[in-house]
Amino acid sequence: MEILKYTEAHKNFRERLRGFLVKEVTPFADQWERDKSVPKSAWKKMGQGGFLCTDVAPEYGGRGGDFLFSLIVAEEMTRTRQTGLSTLLHSDIVVPYISAFGSEELKKKYLPGCVCGDIVTAVAMTEPGAGSDLAGMQTAAVEEGEEVVIDGSKTFISNGLNADIVVVAARDPALENPYEALSLYVVESGTPGFTTGRRLEKMGMWSQDTAELFFSKCRVPQKNRLGDKGMGFLMLMQKLQQERLVCAIMGVTGAEYILEWTMNYCKQTSISGKPISKSQAVQFALVEMATDVKLGRTFVDKLVADHMEAKDIIVETSMAKYWTTDMLNRIANRCLDLCGDFAMSEKCPIVRAWRDAKVMTIFAGTNEIMKNIAAKFMGM
Ligand SMILES: Cc1cc2nc3c(=O)[nH]c(=O)nc-3n(C[C@H](O)[C@H](O)[C@H](O)COP(=O)(O)OP(=O)(O)OC[C@H]3O[C@@H](n4cnc5c(N)ncnc54)[C@H](O)[C@@H]3O)c2cc1C
Repeated sequence: MEILKYTEAHKNFRERLRGFLVKEVTPFADQWERDKSVPKSAWKKMGQGGFLCTDVAPEYGGRGGDFLFSLIVAEEMTRTRQTGLSTLLHSDIVVPYISAFGSEELKKKYLPGCVCGDIVTAVAMTEPGAGSDLAGMQTAAVEEGEEVVIDGSKTFISNGLNADIVVVAARDPALENPYEALSLYVVESGTPGFTTGRRLEKMGMWSQDTAELFFSKCRVPQKNRLGDKGMGFLMLMQKLQQERLVCAIMGVTGAEYILEWTMNYCKQTSISGKPISKSQAVQFALVEMATDVKLGRTFVDKLVADHMEAKDIIVETSMAKYWTTDMLNRIANRCLDLCGDFAMSEKCPIVRAWRDAKVMTIFAGTNEIMKNIAAKFMGM
């Protein structure tokens, strides 16, 4: 049963993207892992190819594509097994804040650069004392006439060092209620009072730069606020849905890749003259994993279709984020077992995928928080 209806334009786009990634991304993935960063030139090439921010309207340089274009990019980028060129974060998570809530002036100023790869973006919510509990954010934003003064710090910010602009969530310290206190501001790199800290050393996603950000009497124009003052929390809640759906797409696509590779490995690797895949224990393991992957794919494709029809899928998206990313970790773990000692070699293509899978249960809202949200909206 085909849930998603791809047009010729979608299919051609996927083919073109695949060709591009084979030439411009996959060959460099190992080097980017060693460098622990991705050159800005890679972002520009993605932009020139038309693979960034595919949903941005043509008047701002985009193609005005539907979410299937984002899905295609998410799937194909996941299959490159590199995470440093985090275009999904840029295109489907950060830039939508500007497209949806930015003033006309901000959209004209930033969106064309985001589409062509001249501008790399980040979103800064997490603080040393506030991760899951977004309401506990302490970074202050005090509006003074035409300006806003930002003070505080953020941590674990993806693209933190590479970003040209950061969407920063900060609160009016005079207001207690987070539903009224939080606002979102676009802060450009190089703004006096805005500095970046360490590149954080991580167990996985080595090529993705993750950093601390510091704001000390950082003055930005008040017109850099996205939407109305005090609407930050609601804007985050609205856009975190798509972020979690993108995580679910990455989860299921990552699991498909790992399983596909492992099945081939088991067919081609023999013990005592017989392929491993002829063992019933291995067959059962592979079939059980293939069942999980198919269930995940069907669920996620259905959610993509519902998301495109703007249906209310908050419960299902929370379920999909936690289930697919847990499943990805289970499959990565089990598949590595099937590789024997090769699982300890960096030459084994699923080793990096295993390492990178762990964070998927943590960011974009931990899997425990996903269950909290589902329980709340299920009336518990
Ligand atoms: C590689 C990486 C990239 C990241 N990129 C970004 C980024 O670009 N921008 C950004 O803003 N943030 C980013 N983050 C931060 C990420 O969103 C947070 O790590 C995440 O929200 C969890 O917050 P925390 O780490 O403070 O954990 P905590 O909130 O301290 O949670 C610790 C544990 O307690 C559990 N827990 C907490 N509250 C509850 C509850 N109410 N009920 C049940 N269990 C609970 C959690 O599930 C978790 O198991 C990134 C993190 C990583 C690791």
